[in-house]
Amino acid sequence: MTVETRKVSLTETAETVLQRRYYLKDAQGHPVENWEKLCRRVANAVALPDRELDDYEEVRDHFFSLIYSLDFLPNSPCLMNAGTGIGQLSACFVLPVEDSMEGIFTAVKNGALVHKTGGGTGYSFSRLRPRNATVSSTQGVASGPLSFAAVFDVATETIKQGGKRRGANMGVMRVDHPDIMDFICAKEDQTRFNNFNFSVAITDEFMQALYDEREYALVDPVTKEIVSSLNARTVFDKIVDLAWHNGEPGVLFIDAANRANPTPQLGEFEATNPCGEQWLLPYESCNLGSINLGNFVEGGRVDYDRLARTTRLATRFLDNVIDCNVFPIPEIKEMTMKTRKIGLGIMGMHDMLIQMGLSYASNEGRKLCAEVMKYIRTISEETSIELAKVKGPFPAFDPAINTYTPRRNAALTSIQPTGTVSMIADCASGCEPYFSIVMVKHVMDGDKLLMVNKHFEEIARAEGFYSTELMARVADSGTVVGHEEIPVKWQEIFCTAQDITPSDHIQMQGILQQSGVDSSISKTINMPNTATKEDVRLAYLMGYEMGCKGLTVYRDGSRDGQVLNTKSAS
Ligand code: UDP
Repeated sequence: MTVETRKVSLTETAETVLQRRYYLKDAQGHPVENWEKLCRRVANAVALPDRELDDYEEVRDHFFSLIYSLDFLPNSPCLMNAGTGIGQLSACFVLPVEDSMEGIFTAVKNGALVHKTGGGTGYSFSRLRPRNATVSSTQGVASGPLSFAAVFDVATETIKQGGKRRGANMGVMRVDHPDIMDFICAKEDQTRFNNFNFSVAITDEFMQALYDEREYALVDPVTKEIVSSLNARTVFDKIVDLAWHNGEPGVLFIDAANRANPTPQLGEFEATNPCGEQWLLPYESCNLGSINLGNFVEGGRVDYDRLARTTRLATRFLDNVIDCNVFPIPEIKEMTMKTRKIGLGIMGMHDMLIQMGLSYASNEGRKLCAEVMKYIRTISEETSIELAKVKGPFPAFDPAINTYTPRRNAALTSIQPTGTVSMIADCASGCEPYFSIVMVKHVMDGDKLLMVNKHFEEIARAEGFYSTELMARVADSGTVVGHEEIPVKWQEIFCTAQDITPSDHIQMQGILQQSGVDSSISKTINMPNTATKEDVRLAYLMGYEMGCKGLTVYRDGSRDGQVLNTKSAS
């Protein structure tokens, strides 16, 4: 059977990104690949574990077509490393940090090995004894988790990820750790811990104390003794205060995550990967991939049949990645092979909504996204169950504990940010709304180029309201809202991350989480510069109540040297 491949044209931006960081290069640094060759390299490598199966060649060609058409893209390490000497294909890792010198510096070393191959690492510092606790071997006092986190930070700074990606870390501390106030305030000084995202792991017990307006206990993780207590409101207000100031710390709802732990027999979740979409057990890794939903709207309808075919192939692709992966250390290989987690997600969700004529901030829009995510989850699980029949369920599956049907992968879905792969696919990133509709790009000789969203340009030209002058005004105001030449209907449909309310952002995250996401979701709750601390406080409460497993808020312009700006990009 010949596999049909849809023709694709890459944007100039996509070509630039690919040439700089993805295509293999010769000794002089010139790219020796193009998009087609890259896709063949990746498809051939990822199909290889199936070489003994009857449908091997067909599957290999389907994998090629899947990526080449931009219907689905795996995470960057897979695109960069598959079929090369590096062969490490995953984006997400969580490494344990044990309370000993040996344990801490083993984690530093393992983290360095992961970063070298393009992966991001999450660490929980909750197991480390608090500052000033006794150290029996030296009869001294402990310098505390934060002093060690600084070592991880410096190590990351030193290792650029194969020259292609900066090392990225998530640092997590439980809210009941005695050093929690130091941790919350650690990034107040914006020159410190720049290679980390810091998140506080909030427990249900803490939330209850917050609702009851009372104190909660701080526990020494080594002795398990209650060493003191803090007022929950004081701690919560400090988190809110600093998140309002510069977007950190984020919050993770650790009990919600552990309630959904698919393999509790192997341990508890303590941390996520750097962008928060993947909860993993210590030493687990996960490879991600995203279906480009903007490619699945035909004549104003979602093509569910094609979406199902793509989801089946994408699930098999990500499952195969586990078998052809070259893991950085044996412990990671062992844990990953036990649970075989994959992170199938989406990108271009906003492109889908726009093509369906729905606003990101509408009930109908949310309903559609939830339906699509649920559909992907269902088909992916069916595929994983089928794969288990042929290749066996994940080895840690225990029918006495795991009540679900035996499947090949302990976790199936999560929504990654798609920071780079969405640029290759030319679509809105992950489940985010577009950040702007018209941007000004500063080109080399001081000229300015207007970059207009492809859907908006098409509609504006078709309906006769396109003009360079209007586009310049949209770029200048940072929004399509309020320009009278633009019909109100399109003003609503082209609302961006800044135009919609924080509640709209959280409702979308919550409904996606509830409807079809096993692990978690990377999403930013954007707020205008004028947002108050009360707005941030209410956002966290709403996220918790909607069953989100974490929340990141960001108030426009609050971070020094903010990279993304609605009005200009260079
Ligand atoms: N990541 C990383 N370094 C980076 C970007 C991403 O280690 O510079 C890891 C991190 O674990 C993140 C995950 O890759 O959560 C997915 O990020 P994203 O979707 O933006 O990656 P892409 O595949 O688009 O490059």
